[in-house]
Amino acid sequence: MPRLAEQRHPGARVPDPGDRGRLLHVRADGSMSTPAGTEAFDLVVIGGGPAGLTAARDVAAAGGRVMVVDENHAMGGKLRGQLHEDPTDSSWWKGWELAEQGEKDAVAAGARMITDVVAWGLEPGWTVRLTYPAGRNGGPSHLTSRAVLVATGAVERPMPVTGWTLPGAMTIGAAQVLTNIHRVKPGRRVLVVGMDVLSLTIARAMQLAGVDVMGIVLPPTAVEGSSPRATLGRLAPMAKLAPAMYMRLAGRFLGWSWVQALASRLIPRTVRMWGIPLHLRTALVAIQGTDQVTGAVVVNVTADGTPVAGSERELAVDAVCLANGLIPLNELLATLDCAFLRSPDLGGTVPVHSDTLRTQLDGMYVAGNTIGVESAKIAEKQGALVALSIIEDLGLSTRRGCTAAQGALDLVGARRTMEFQFDVNVQRGHDKVQRAWETSGGPA
Ligand SMILES: Cc1cc2nc3c(=O)[nH]c(=O)nc-3n(C[C@H](O)[C@H](O)[C@H](O)COP(=O)(O)OP(=O)(O)OC[C@H]3O[C@@H](n4cnc5c(N)ncnc54)[C@H](O)[C@@H]3O)c2cc1C
Repeated sequence: MPRLAEQRHPGARVPDPGDRGRLLHVRADGSMSTPAGTEAFDLVVIGGGPAGLTAARDVAAAGGRVMVVDENHAMGGKLRGQLHEDPTDSSWWKGWELAEQGEKDAVAAGARMITDVVAWGLEPGWTVRLTYPAGRNGGPSHLTSRAVLVATGAVERPMPVTGWTLPGAMTIGAAQVLTNIHRVKPGRRVLVVGMDVLSLTIARAMQLAGVDVMGIVLPPTAVEGSSPRATLGRLAPMAKLAPAMYMRLAGRFLGWSWVQALASRLIPRTVRMWGIPLHLRTALVAIQGTDQVTGAVVVNVTADGTPVAGSERELAVDAVCLANGLIPLNELLATLDCAFLRSPDLGGTVPVHSDTLRTQLDGMYVAGNTIGVESAKIAEKQGALVALSIIEDLGLSTRRGCTAAQGALDLVGARRTMEFQFDVNVQRGHDKVQRAWETSGGPA
């Protein structure tokens, strides 16, 4: 693997290590101070991604005392690494600019923020317990608040495969962070493993950064849902982003299982998207290398994912990016008396909540990918919606004249018109959660 300095592509902007461990505590007037652990807030937001920042902005604008905490050294969450072209108007979605703007707007509205801090515990009342990286002092050990919003996002599902701990093997999200945040190429010749909305988008970002993306292959056959047929179903939500009309048309029908079955037999072995080869009937077997990645072994597979004996071959690559989907991150809520529901449509297990994003616990709210894997645009809308619920419940004032119930309906409409979804059945997942909420009788 080339040294990092060699891999930086033009426009590299490497963060100053001195920024790490920074305590950012900004008042509405822009001045900085150290927050007191005893100060009471109306709302503490855990996670400064698009959902958390939007909610913080709106609740602060309604007069609430708001604190946002995030474990990263900059606000914005996963938004900071995002780069994709909007198929509707060919504009570019530059997540880092949107993240910066989101932070500025929340601060201008009066929200305060702490970075480099992990919320590790929640106690009813509410108390949010905090911890800091070693060597970082000066922050409060806890915050007290009338309401808490858990907006902790999602994490990548690992893909254990021979060679996955070698330098040069990484998750697709790590490749996104290297390429779009640190402006460092993950490798010179990169193989992407796993086909979904995220891997295609990030393969494209790497290609734009000058990386030679050798192609995208399927995960090892032992990985659940890795067959060509299942993969075609996962590509359906991506249809609107496809560069060619025939792909956009075909993609509209890929959500149907009989079309997937037929297509997985008829499709060519390889199709190209933005010039990147998608090897639809080739799967990874192992990543090779002693001290670093030097290659990958792949094999042909049948439509149902069975390896074809004797078709193994080696590819010379210096980096392998593994994409195996995302899982909602909500472990903080699991420590509380809060019911959970498993929903593959949402990416995993999520806390039961109402369509207005209230949980069964008084004063506890959820928004964003923590309740289902979706795009940043939807996370932002969920942030605005949960703010309406919090404003209503805390008796704060809003000039927007929209109720949380109306906001919930708008969200369903927005989902329908989104240019891409991580899962075509995401609304079905949310409907199932809503039924569980209604059956449970709402707040405990
Ligand atoms: C690797 C990856 C890449 C993605 N790329 C795209 C993309 O290109 N386009 C797209 O539309 N969507 C993408 N997504 C989906 C993405 O999650 C949403 O777009 C959006 O960012 C979700 O917003 P959010 O506010 O719910 O969470 P996030 O943006 O994930 O923000 C949550 C924040 O909470 C912080 N946090 C978590 N736990 C704690 C804790 N205990 N204490 C303190 N802070 C905590 C996290 O570090 C993070 O900063 C990606 C997701 C992942 C995981």
